[in-house]
Amino acid sequence: MEIAIMGAGLSGLACAITLEKNGITPTIFEKRREVGDRFVNGEALLDIFTRPVQDCIASLSDEYGIFLKPTSAIQRMKLFSKNEQAVIEGHLGFTNIRGRDHDAFESQLERQTKTTIHYHSEKTYEELLSEYTHVVLATGDGAYAKETHNYREDLSVSIKGATVEGSFDKYTVMAWIDYDIAPYGYCFLIPYSEKEANITIAIPDLPENKNVETSELWDTFYSMVQSQLKQELPITDQFQITQYLMGICHSARIGNTFYVGNNFGTMMPFMGFGQYASIVSGVYAAYDLCGLGNYEELMKPLRQSYEDALVLRRAMEQLSNKGLDRIIHSLNGYWGEKLFLKKSINPIRVASYLLRPYIKMKKGVTS
Ligand SMILES: Cc1cc2nc3c(=O)[nH]c(=O)nc-3n(C[C@H](O)[C@H](O)[C@H](O)COP(=O)(O)OP(=O)(O)OC[C@H]3O[C@@H](n4cnc5c(N)ncnc54)[C@H](O)[C@@H]3O)c2cc1C
Repeated sequence: MEIAIMGAGLSGLACAITLEKNGITPTIFEKRREVGDRFVNGEALLDIFTRPVQDCIASLSDEYGIFLKPTSAIQRMKLFSKNEQAVIEGHLGFTNIRGRDHDAFESQLERQTKTTIHYHSEKTYEELLSEYTHVVLATGDGAYAKETHNYREDLSVSIKGATVEGSFDKYTVMAWIDYDIAPYGYCFLIPYSEKEANITIAIPDLPENKNVETSELWDTFYSMVQSQLKQELPITDQFQITQYLMGICHSARIGNTFYVGNNFGTMMPFMGFGQYASIVSGVYAAYDLCGLGNYEELMKPLRQSYEDALVLRRAMEQLSNKGLDRIIHSLNGYWGEKLFLKKSINPIRVASYLLRPYIKMKKGVTS
């Protein structure tokens, strides 16, 4: 068996690590000049999005032998709508760094594998398929899945983010769901340390947003964060992504091709979380290749999470700032703590179950 992994990101490296543990050495093809050679940004692993898993970092090490050091635990989350705010306190998840940084998750994964990585790769999927018995597609987007008609595209998002300097509580993550600032979208502040944070705005490319200028909304968001934090927050780095695809493939495996990470559809369309599912998808593809499981079957819970998140995304598109204010108001206190901290409840699953008939009627959710 000769395995090619296309992409040295979270899912591709997790796949390689797991294959190696089981005595198989794949070959990785990465188009960039090194692992994580892209903009730096802060990301988060939120327990609420990975239920029934209670603690992503512990689960990755205990269940899958993948060891990741986050930047910090998240002990407080501040959620803002136009006129309301909710503060949730307790262990909520972790923050971590991505991209061109020694401690980025992809760099940490790279250090756990001995697999050869061919950088600057220009090999196409078709070339790899002709040279290897199996190909793991781990390129971080749905492009190949789409090209091979194995993809249902549900959404694309325009994202703009920056690293800012200031004074931050590294245990606190902030999120804004205010449609005056990000219509049908969301904004985050994720600290890297006490002195640096990442701020990001994400705007879905909906017909309602066709006249919206991401850079103008960014300016409003940036000013708003500065005035809310009463700090100047000079920008030291910036990035912008247009039409970041979110969708899911129809089959996780076709012949000897495995669709992992965002190729599969691990990016939750609700608030854009996908790291944990991407890593696990790489592990599951390796299990199948080692004869330890069936990839399609193993991916069923992650497929369900994606579909649940899509229902929530469609519900979000039906809301106005008034509705968002009501939700954020109700999350401040008992309900917020119950939903975010009571580990036996999967709020995304429950909300999706309750909202599905309404959303099916309104917008059409395909499964
Ligand atoms: C701005 C932003 C913020 C995010 N925030 C969060 C968050 O807070 N929490 C969270 O859980 N998720 C977040 N996500 C989602 C998360 O980052 C992704 O779900 C996850 O990285 C996907 O992993 P992957 O393995 O599919 O792809 P990646 O980790 O992106 O890796 C793909 C790799 O494939 C390489 N590649 C691409 N094309 C080719 C090719 N043709 N040949 C060879 N190599 C190729 C790339 O260079 C890259 O190294 C965010 C995403 C973005 C864009």
